[in-house]
Amino acid sequence: MKTTEFSLIDQYFKNRTWHRDDVLLGIGDDAAVTRVPPDFDLLSAVDTLVEGVHFPADTAPFDIGFKALAVNLSDLAAMGAEPAWATLALTLPDINESWLQSFSDGFFSLAQRYNVQLIGGDTTQGPLSITVQVMGLSRQDRALTRAGASAGDRVMLSGCVGDAALALRMLHGGIEPQVTVASERRQLLDRLNRPMPRIELGLALRGIASAAIDVSDGLAADLGHILAASNTGATLQLDKVPVSDTLRRLGSPLFEALAMGGGDDYELCFTVPGEKLAELEKVRRQLKINVTEIGEIDKQQGLRVQRDGVSIEINQPGYQHFSQS
Ligand code: ADP
Ligand code: MG
Repeated sequence: MKTTEFSLIDQYFKNRTWHRDDVLLGIGDDAAVTRVPPDFDLLSAVDTLVEGVHFPADTAPFDIGFKALAVNLSDLAAMGAEPAWATLALTLPDINESWLQSFSDGFFSLAQRYNVQLIGGDTTQGPLSITVQVMGLSRQDRALTRAGASAGDRVMLSGCVGDAALALRMLHGGIEPQVTVASERRQLLDRLNRPMPRIELGLALRGIASAAIDVSDGLAADLGHILAASNTGATLQLDKVPVSDTLRRLGSPLFEALAMGGGDDYELCFTVPGEKLAELEKVRRQLKINVTEIGEIDKQQGLRVQRDGVSIEINQPGYQHFSQS
């Protein structure tokens, strides 16, 4: 790959990136040089997408590029950080110019929207795998974390959940005949392939949310991480969990399984003390974003789920690599 490796990097990455003033040296040297403003903290997140594991082999390259950055930006959103820089480690089976063009189109469409500069990376040959690291900035000691929820705080969720997992089931067959409307199918696939990171919401939640996480592995599992980190429990109202009309129509047991356990939605789940709810309402109106109260933090450890006020059992551990089943 060595012969065309450098021209490839120039053509599809170096020459296409968005530029920021705080990058003193970007792609082309042994390391990038960036400047963190005084009184800011640097936040970093990294995620790998492997073909066949994180996306089906026939996923459009534009969507792969878009999603590889989106899932990372979602982690910054959950921390209330402002995105700044990214690196990209790309393992490709071969050099396919049209694939690279579409992949970088997808990547940079999102990078530009959030003012992210690609500052470096690595290019190797092998089975298709994409690793993106993003770095963001947050005023000193102001980052939102998973720890910080306390009894009485409300549990909130942006947008709706379950559609990405529903799209995956649709692709794998089984439920397609029930989802008959083509426009609905397209919408579901969009939720799976082009998740929009909740950057603006994450930034607005600083000073309002007591804890936050992005929903990548499923609501029950990810809320569970907030509870564990905060040393609290929660009671969640299943009938309040926002889902699309499509998922609601499909009913039990798909509704419960995907609302509580469906991953890949990249919405924000966060907790808010009662006295901050009015401020949250302002944010909701300003950003024109759906935010739904789905439960409450309590002292008793663990997650309890109720439907119409009656306790029900759920068994949704969320997606885990290396798990047996
Ligand atoms: P080195 O051998 O010093 O690690 P490389 O030859 O791997 O450097 O890369 C040359 C330059 O191109 C470096 O600045 C590196 O960060 C950048 N780069 C390599 N691959 C990518 C990529 N896929 N996207 C963005 N930048 C890349
Ligand atoms: Mg070097």
